[in-house]
Amino acid sequence: SASHTTQDTLPHQLDDVEVARLRADFPILERRVNGAPLIYLDSGATSQTPTCVYEAEQHFYENFNSAVHRGAHSLAVEATDIFEQARSDLASFIGARQNEVIWTSNATEALNLITYSFGNASAGLGGEAARKFALGPGDEIVVTELEHHANLIPWQELALRTGATLKFIPVDEAGALRMGLAGSIITPATKVVAFTHVSNVLGTVTNVPALVALARSVGALTVLDGCQSVPHLPVDVKELDVDFMAFSGHKMLGPTGIGGLYGRGELLDAMPPFLTGGSMITSVTMEKAEYLPSPMRFEAGTQRISQAHGLATAVAYLREVGMERIAAWETQLGQRMLSGLASIPGVRVLGPTGGAQRIGTAPFVIEDVHPHDVGQFLDSRGVAVRVGHHCAQPLHRALGIVSSTRASTYLYNTTSDIDALLNAVSDVRGYFR
Ligand code: PLP
Repeated sequence: SASHTTQDTLPHQLDDVEVARLRADFPILERRVNGAPLIYLDSGATSQTPTCVYEAEQHFYENFNSAVHRGAHSLAVEATDIFEQARSDLASFIGARQNEVIWTSNATEALNLITYSFGNASAGLGGEAARKFALGPGDEIVVTELEHHANLIPWQELALRTGATLKFIPVDEAGALRMGLAGSIITPATKVVAFTHVSNVLGTVTNVPALVALARSVGALTVLDGCQSVPHLPVDVKELDVDFMAFSGHKMLGPTGIGGLYGRGELLDAMPPFLTGGSMITSVTMEKAEYLPSPMRFEAGTQRISQAHGLATAVAYLREVGMERIAAWETQLGQRMLSGLASIPGVRVLGPTGGAQRIGTAPFVIEDVHPHDVGQFLDSRGVAVRVGHHCAQPLHRALGIVSSTRASTYLYNTTSDIDALLNAVSDVRGYFR
C-alpha cells in the first residue's frame, strides 16, 4: 500500500511534499540516466510500478502459486480466491459488477476480443442470442480520428471481414473532435461507436455523454478506450453508461501482461467467445462444446494470476492516494507544462487551446528539429519522453505532421520534473543550431 500514507492523513490536495513521500514507493525514480537524475515523463506509454505491486506478485509465488478454477487442493482454492478477489477489486474501481470484468493481456487484446467476438457473431456463431452483434454490408461502425491504432485497426479488420462500413468523426486542425458532425455521422445504420476517453497524444478528454447519447438514439453499442483515463481520472462505467471499456494494467501502476475488458453482463453472456479451449466450457463432446457464462467464457487457458493480484494491489494504491486528488495534481502539472512549453521560442504545442479538459500530457514539435533528435537530447539530460507517431498516425496526419514529442505525467511527478523538462526543451534549438 502507499505505505506511510492514508487518505485520512493526506493533505486535501497532493503537493510536492506529499509527492516526494509517494516517490519513495517507486525505487526506479532514484535512478540516474546519462549522469543526471531520471525525470520520467513517459507514463502515457507505461507507468512505473510501486514496490507493493511486485512484492504482492512475489508473495503470491512464494505462498499460493497454482492454477485457478481447477483442483481441490488448498493452494488451488487460495489462488482462485486471490484471482477472483482481484477481479472484484478491479470491478469496484471502475463501477462494474464482478462478472463484468474479463482479464486480457492488455487493452489491445480487450479491443480485439470484442471485434473477434462480433466477427464470430457475424459468421453465425453464438446462435440467436448473438445476432445483435452480427454486422454485414449496410451496417456501419463509427470511430474517431483521435484513436490509438489499437482502437482503429481491429475495427478496420472487422469491417473487412463482414462487409460493414467504417466511418469516423474527424478532428479539426487543432485536434479537437468535430462534435458538430457526430450527429450526421452516427446514423440508424450505425451498430457500434468506438472512441477513446482520453487522447493518448493530446491528453484531451472526450465528451462521452454526448457520444453515448447519439449512439443510444440509434440503438448502437458503445466501446470506450479507457487506457488513458482509468489511470488518471475517476472512471465509473455505469455513470458513463458505456457498453464496453478496455484498459491496460501497465499504465495504472500495475504489471505488464495484464489488462481488462468491461462489458455489460447481459451483453457478454450473449457474445460468442474469442479464444477457445480449456477453462471456458461446461461440456465438450468430439463434435461441439457448451460455454460458461462471462467472464470465464472469455478466459480460455491458464490465466495471469499473479499479474491480476499485482494489478489489484496497484488499484488499492491508487484508491489510497485518491483518484480525484491524482487528477487535480496532474491537471496542475499539465498546465505548468503546456504554458511553459508554449512560451519557449520555436515550440509549437499541439492540441486545442482554451478550456478543453486535458490530463497531464503535453505534445509538441520544435521548429527545425526532428522529434527523435529532441528525444535524444532530452535523454542526455535524464528526461524520458516519447517521440514518434504514438500509434496515432491518422491524428498526426490531420495535424499536418508526421511525428511529435510527448511528455506525460503521473502521480509521482513533481513541479521540479516539469521545470527540468522546460529547461531542457529551452536548450534544444541552441544545441542543434
Ligand atoms: N489505447 C490508448 C489510448 C493507448 O494509449 C494505448 C497504449 O499506448 C492503447 C490503447 C494500447 O494499450 P496496450 O498497448 O497496453 O494494449
